[in-house]
Amino acid sequence: MSNEIHETSPIGKEFILLKMGEMVLKGLNRRGFEERMMGNARRRLEGCGPFRIYSRQSITYIEPMSRDCDMDAAFQRLCCLFGVVSLCRAKACDKRAESIVEAAKTYLRDQLNAAHSFKVESKRADKSFVMSSIQLSQYVGGELNDLFNHLTADMRHPEMTVHVEVRDFAAFVHADPTPGAGGLPVGIGGRAVSLLSGGIDSPVASWMMAKRGLALEMVHFFSYPYTSPEAKDKVLTLAKLLTPWCGSLVVHVVPFTEIQETLRRSCPESLFTLLMRRFMMRIAEQVAQRAGAKGLVTGESLGQVASQTMEAMAVTEAATTLPVFRPVVGMDKEEIIQVARKIGTFETSILPYEDCCTVFTPRHPKTRPTLEEIQAAETDLDIDGLIAQAMDGIERVQV
Ligand code: ATP
Ligand code: MG
Repeated sequence: MSNEIHETSPIGKEFILLKMGEMVLKGLNRRGFEERMMGNARRRLEGCGPFRIYSRQSITYIEPMSRDCDMDAAFQRLCCLFGVVSLCRAKACDKRAESIVEAAKTYLRDQLNAAHSFKVESKRADKSFVMSSIQLSQYVGGELNDLFNHLTADMRHPEMTVHVEVRDFAAFVHADPTPGAGGLPVGIGGRAVSLLSGGIDSPVASWMMAKRGLALEMVHFFSYPYTSPEAKDKVLTLAKLLTPWCGSLVVHVVPFTEIQETLRRSCPESLFTLLMRRFMMRIAEQVAQRAGAKGLVTGESLGQVASQTMEAMAVTEAATTLPVFRPVVGMDKEEIIQVARKIGTFETSILPYEDCCTVFTPRHPKTRPTLEEIQAAETDLDIDGLIAQAMDGIERVQV
């Protein structure tokens, strides 16, 4: 393989190595998973310089093809790539034991100097390599101990582990790998439309479904002038904060004022929120049809508010035939907040702008609605007309 892939020698270069997660288990589908992840990696590395990306023996190699490649930025971006269980920066050297020692000595010098104890862990993906893994670890460990004689060897709790991997076209040395983003490569599970409000829950829900391999498009319902342009910008900012994980996103901004005013005028107040949410589902379904998406995602959590009881969810999802994914349904607010902090959406989510759901909130919302009473409340509405009008007014923003 070396010749077809390497016009220039990989020896001496610093690589980024990605280890794949669950996808390795998927047998026959594995190639498709790898291809998807590599495609996502390629798009994610745009602007960091030219890289060559290829997979071999369940490792994906990210090889810089210019001295100007920004390895720090590349590594940081790949930390958000779903489908990767762990990743590391690694130095490639030729497959002689002395070269491996030399590479470890120079590449890991600072870390070896800072540590008090260490061990060497070797893997041989190249089974023709002359030493066994144990022999190689002992050899490299012995040599490094001579060179850094403040270090003690500690097989059980070393401060630092020097990893050596003998692979097909080179050997690699690296320090402990960093945990990857986990999950499945975005897009492998198809496409869904996520209902993104400006709150804490829906960005987390979107992130969780992207992590399970869904490519997303966002829908946001916007009730100008009841909600401000800042509220819309906030949602676009939230979508942007998700792009390191989801890739670039389309946000469909749907004008929702007309529907809300109609519902307030002509329907029982206690059902207002539920009727409104049914319109959200119907419109999201139409957006999904246009986008080739086969599911919807919301940030609903059981019992969190009146419109999120089991009965309320039942009448809400009865408005669509698409599956509705609610990944935070069983999570407490605190647990959702923890994820929001981790993915960096929390601070934006708590900015104090109105959401369309807080406009015309009923004083006594119905928590145990039946589909019959909801449908009765809708009989006099021009549902198709209202939806068509909202669809016509959609503004499509790419973030
Ligand atoms: P969030 O924190 O995500 O705003 P929430 O607890 O405030 O959720 P609701 O306001 O009842 O809950 O909304 C429930 C879900 O409906 C949201 O998580 C989101 O998926 C969707 N949703 C609510 N408002 C909007 C909106 N303006 N545009 C798009 N989706 C919305
Ligand atoms: Mg909300």
